[in-house]
Amino acid sequence: DYFASALSNQLNTQTESLLRPPSFDEFVGQKKTVERLKIMAGAAKKRGEALNHILLSGPPGLGKTSLSFILGAEMGRNVRITSGPVVEKAGDLAGMLTNLEEGDILFIDEIHRIPKTVEEYLYSAMEDYCIDIMIDQGPNARSVRLNIPRFTLVGATTRNGLLTAPLRSRFTLQTRLDYYGPEDLLKIVTRTCHLLKVPVERDGGLEIARRARGTPRIANNLVNFVRDYAEEKGNGTITKASAQAALELLEIDARGLDEMDKRILRVMATTYKSRPVGLATLAVAVGEESHTLEEVHEPYLIQSGLVQRTAQGRIITPEGLAAIGLDAATA
Ligand code: ATP
Repeated sequence: DYFASALSNQLNTQTESLLRPPSFDEFVGQKKTVERLKIMAGAAKKRGEALNHILLSGPPGLGKTSLSFILGAEMGRNVRITSGPVVEKAGDLAGMLTNLEEGDILFIDEIHRIPKTVEEYLYSAMEDYCIDIMIDQGPNARSVRLNIPRFTLVGATTRNGLLTAPLRSRFTLQTRLDYYGPEDLLKIVTRTCHLLKVPVERDGGLEIARRARGTPRIANNLVNFVRDYAEEKGNGTITKASAQAALELLEIDARGLDEMDKRILRVMATTYKSRPVGLATLAVAVGEESHTLEEVHEPYLIQSGLVQRTAQGRIITPEGLAAIGLDAATA
């Protein structure tokens, strides 16, 4: 399933770093978040202090990693990247933290997935720049205090609600990234084509922008496929016609819905007869992990007005029915 992989996979690292916006100036959209970050970074730099801890939330592929690199560049510091599930033990965290230099940025992706036992060590690390580690066992057990350099934690999460209150409260700034509108995505598509030296017509770019589910990472992946298509079947230019044909081949419809989105809508409309259904039930019915459903598919379906979240469960809207060719009267 190309689309699923378009979402989860990174392009190869070389392309990825070529496309990653190096500065706030090249970072398209997300005005509020960018403004907040610029102010914090500007002030910290003037005071000669490390940046305060920042929590970035929002669906995958919207630029959280890019922003943390931009912050590193602004502050003139290193950025170290890890992710919640990788930090299994307190020792892993201690090792990472003690290897940082003053002012470095530690980016923890999927921070909501950090084990609870490790999370508690983060509290004192973030607040007092030290951690107390237990060494030895039994009667010899004792705790040793490790001092760590003043660092900046940039946490990224797709699931704001899963973060514990004590962890959340230790971030000075919590800011949310939203899906990009078609105009912003068109800018990103145009920028990507320019960097990859792919000729693109405005209409062709717009076609990709409209079907990229508001997500720059998907837009970049679609550009790559459409470019291949245009080279194989056309003269290499991304036009409206070549973009449409290529995206049709990927079974991505005019709203950017993929096979799984449509399967979800069909199950909601037919199996559950447009009545509310729980997430776990829905996940089993469509054969997808419930966290993927909740983090990837559902936010986009809700944002597009095709599904609603109610106290009783998820429910398909009349627009949702229309998206799969049904209408409210017949469904
Ligand atoms: P995840 O949350 O899954 O870690 P992410 O939100 O960190 O994903 P990035 O890896 O930062 O997403 O973004 C993916 C790619 O999309 C970047 O390499 C970049 O090319 C492009 N991109 C993202 N946001 C922007 C933007 N605002 N302007 C220009 N390009 C962008």
